[in-house]
Amino acid sequence: MKNSLDQIDTLNNLYRAFERKLTKKHDNIPFGERAFFECKGKYKFMESGECTVFGKKVVKAYKKTAEASFDEAEEQVTRGEKGIVVVLEILDHVGHEVGSEGTKYINAAKMVIERTKKLFNHFKEKNPDGTCILISDHGMGDVLTGVDVLNPMKRLFGLPGEKYQVYNDSLYLRIWADSNDMLLKIGSYLNKIDCLYQIDESNRQKNGVTKHELGDLIYVLKNGYYFNPNCFGVSLRGGVAGLHGYMEPLDQVSGILVTEFGSGEMIDAMNVFNTVRDAIGK
Ligand SMILES: [Zn+2]
Repeated sequence: MKNSLDQIDTLNNLYRAFERKLTKKHDNIPFGERAFFECKGKYKFMESGECTVFGKKVVKAYKKTAEASFDEAEEQVTRGEKGIVVVLEILDHVGHEVGSEGTKYINAAKMVIERTKKLFNHFKEKNPDGTCILISDHGMGDVLTGVDVLNPMKRLFGLPGEKYQVYNDSLYLRIWADSNDMLLKIGSYLNKIDCLYQIDESNRQKNGVTKHELGDLIYVLKNGYYFNPNCFGVSLRGGVAGLHGYMEPLDQVSGILVTEFGSGEMIDAMNVFNTVRDAIGK
């Protein structure tokens, strides 16, 4: 626990904010954790070549830009490949940057839809019995304002360390404490904050996060809010415009799953894997 993820003092926050701006704009890797994240936390989708998706061997189209990824996929279809996965990051990046109402986001979405249609048609021409699936693991909720809980907690309960520990990303807050008493105190403070609610036991069960090593208490922000500062640092520009991970149901923050078998109903995130696997007939 006592590693640099827990250093939440102002100097460290500032350092992280600058380091983030100056080095890699798009990642939020905490100060001192870069080596670990880069070797252990490397995103699987960033590896090129062949890979296995939903139990099937496929070729991957992942390039620097969405346009180049689509170009690559079109070539793969032309070559006669039958299992192709195209990886796109554009809606995530642009959505965080400008939010779901931003022109840049709308234009990116239009481009993705246009090129997806073209690619699907091309694929179906070559493989009349093939299956096309469009999947997005999240939507993008618009961000209204930042919420600071780390500094009030430090003032009320002392620095994190011996008595309690706290970790929060943009939306989720996790607390560990060495005594029930401390846990109750922290809980009663957090329960008074309007824009925040606790993920209760039944929801923890539903989402597979019952283990206390994942947090004695877990809280999530309501739609529109984000933690600033969070354990990745402070945001110098006043934060991001869009975020995913909000739990309140809203079309804007929902993911997308489209296949020719799709019924248009909501599918729980926990069941997306099985749904897609069934659709491709594994
Ligand atoms: Zn994201």
